Amino acid sequence: MRVAMFSAKSYERALLSELNAGHGHDLVYFESLLEPETASLAAGFPAVSVFVNDAVNRDVLRRLAQGETKLVATRCTGFNHIDLEAADEFGIRVVRVADYSPNSVAEFAVGLLLALNRKIHRAYNRTREGNFKLDGLMGFDLVGRTVAVIGTGRIGTIFARIMAGFGCTVIGFDVHRSAEFEKIGGRYVDAKGVEEADVISMHCPLTPETYHIVDARTLARVKTGALLINTSRGGLVDTDAAIDALKSGRLGGMAIDVYEQEADLFYRDLSSAVISDDVIQRLVSFPNVIVTGHQAFFTREALETILGTTLASISEFEAGRPLTYEIAAPGRARA
Ligand code: NAD
Repeated sequence: MRVAMFSAKSYERALLSELNAGHGHDLVYFESLLEPETASLAAGFPAVSVFVNDAVNRDVLRRLAQGETKLVATRCTGFNHIDLEAADEFGIRVVRVADYSPNSVAEFAVGLLLALNRKIHRAYNRTREGNFKLDGLMGFDLVGRTVAVIGTGRIGTIFARIMAGFGCTVIGFDVHRSAEFEKIGGRYVDAKGVEEADVISMHCPLTPETYHIVDARTLARVKTGALLINTSRGGLVDTDAAIDALKSGRLGGMAIDVYEQEADLFYRDLSSAVISDDVIQRLVSFPNVIVTGHQAFFTREALETILGTTLASISEFEAGRPLTYEIAAPGRARA
């Protein structure tokens, strides 16, 4: 099947060519984001593949439908960037990658926490300049500390298990309870539970209910000096409120792999450009903030599964078989 692969990166192309040998799809790569201005590139392609920052909104879906596209395959788990209702209305089916190494993201979140707490990012820069002083680099022992996991699904539970292994008390906030989370010693709390936490790590999806779930009100309640880790979606955190909490010292530090306005920045080399986003510029200027460019998923194991699943879903669609990883708007049955 002819597939228009949007936001295709060089590291994906090499692996896709290898994995596609067993599928025989005709993959055409577009480096650009899928957005209203680029949707016409997909005309005549029955399948379109996208990534986290492609804007698969109503306007784009209408244009895709006009170009005879019937399938959108997103190469990620989250699907907040796709208007499922509009897809349904325009007769476009949507698949995602539900299961791929959740360890990749959980392990990265732990890495961010360790770096942020022990100031490894600062030490790395200092020693390269010949500065071996320790002033300003003090962290705290994680053993015995309380870690709040917001969203105790696949990734959150693995993160919780690793933190329990560090000797932390793990508390969780979720709309569904996970027996696995409780088995590793996790205790469920209500939203007020964040008051107990020394570390808060975000692992729930971005939905209308979770948008800015960490806002000024939440941040006013956190323990002074608490660390906030977000490897889930930028929209979960009100960035302006987080900046205020960092300035007041209420938040002791923040490490983010995701950012609400990341679509204009991430996955590009802007090192020679003047970045006009003052919020991200402010954030990267803080010594107690670490920003990474949505790379938590980026391990060989995860990428192989992501791309392999995407190609398999397209093959299922081509053969008219049920789509294992189809997603539909709430209230709509999967075809
Ligand atoms: P999952 O579906 O297994 O778990 C999500 C959990 O969040 C579920 O237990 C769900 O009940 C809970 N949840 C839903 N609504 C909630 C709410 N209102 N309040 C509290 N909890 C709520 O998903 P997962 O595989 O663990 O992935 C979690 C998220 O991680 C994804 O949605 C995605 O946004 C993000 N992610 C990021 C990267 C990255 O590279 N940074 C990679 C993969 C996934």
